[in-house]
Amino acid sequence: MTSPNTSRRTFLKGLGAGALSLVAVSSQLTPVQANTGLTDTTDAIEPYGVLIDLTRCTGCESCVLACKKANNRNQPTVAADRLSSDAYCALERKTITLHDGSLADIAIKRQCMHCLHPACASACTVGALRKQANGPVVYDSAKCIGCRYCQYACPFGVPTYEWNNALGLIHKCDMCATRIAIGESPACVGACPNGALRFGKRSALLAQAHAQIQTNPGRYVDHVYGEFEAGGTSNLYLSAVPFVQLGFPVLDGRPVTEHGESIMQSTPIIALGMAALATSLHLITRRHHELAAASAHASGRHDA
Ligand code: SF4
Ligand code: SF4
Ligand code: SF4
Repeated sequence: MTSPNTSRRTFLKGLGAGALSLVAVSSQLTPVQANTGLTDTTDAIEPYGVLIDLTRCTGCESCVLACKKANNRNQPTVAADRLSSDAYCALERKTITLHDGSLADIAIKRQCMHCLHPACASACTVGALRKQANGPVVYDSAKCIGCRYCQYACPFGVPTYEWNNALGLIHKCDMCATRIAIGESPACVGACPNGALRFGKRSALLAQAHAQIQTNPGRYVDHVYGEFEAGGTSNLYLSAVPFVQLGFPVLDGRPVTEHGESIMQSTPIIALGMAALATSLHLITRRHHELAAASAHASGRHDA
């Protein structure tokens, strides 16, 4: 039986032979198959999610640091302002002009949205990403071949690639699925001192979000981001300013899996070729740097 590591080695060997030859090999692959990533579409379990109230966020960074600690990331005391393989959640800061002309500084916690119909899982040809019935979209590194289809497919720009790992791995928030499995809330939620993050069943969070909008006139825009976008997401946002001003993508209620599947089915060879080419160039450049550094080191020893 072929092990996951063998699949990965085979894929990387293909990279070593050059991106063009890999494109030629990939032409023999069948088109990307539809894959919702759902563990069990008939499962009636109500998914969990997180309600992020941007009007309560002070930008204290506690969530970002707690996330790093919970996921054993590098530089655990440095808060990230963008997602990376070392930061599964990040705090973006924007200065927004309000309707009365005044300026407001807004901190925006970003992480995986845990889509109800995840385009990342749909695009993954080997089933490395899947939506659990209880909410989280989880990743299995043992299955991943590093093709980065998921990165192309995600409408929120969430999956990040670990460039410094020769095996190539994808990184993203998994809603702290192992904590949820033992009845705990995600690390970021537990760390927030301001009640800006609330964990619970998605339906209850939605009801609460709409109740907050109704009972606090003027505090929020009448929009719960994630209720319908991309077919709905497990994570939801409340905001005082229109989400488009915060850089959130404008998406209709159609699952991105429908867009993504048609794109990936029409261009799988190009997408795989581009991913392979980018990876090959990175590995070659890094090897040159390593050889140059080793050469400089050796010449320094001779000069001494
Ligand atoms: S936000 Fe992106 S990475 Fe997260 S579940 Fe949706 S498609 Fe996948
Ligand atoms: S749910 Fe877990 S992995 Fe996701 S942002 Fe929060 S702490 Fe990080
Ligand atoms: S811990 Fe809460 S208040 Fe602090 S940055 Fe995160 S979401 Fe905002």
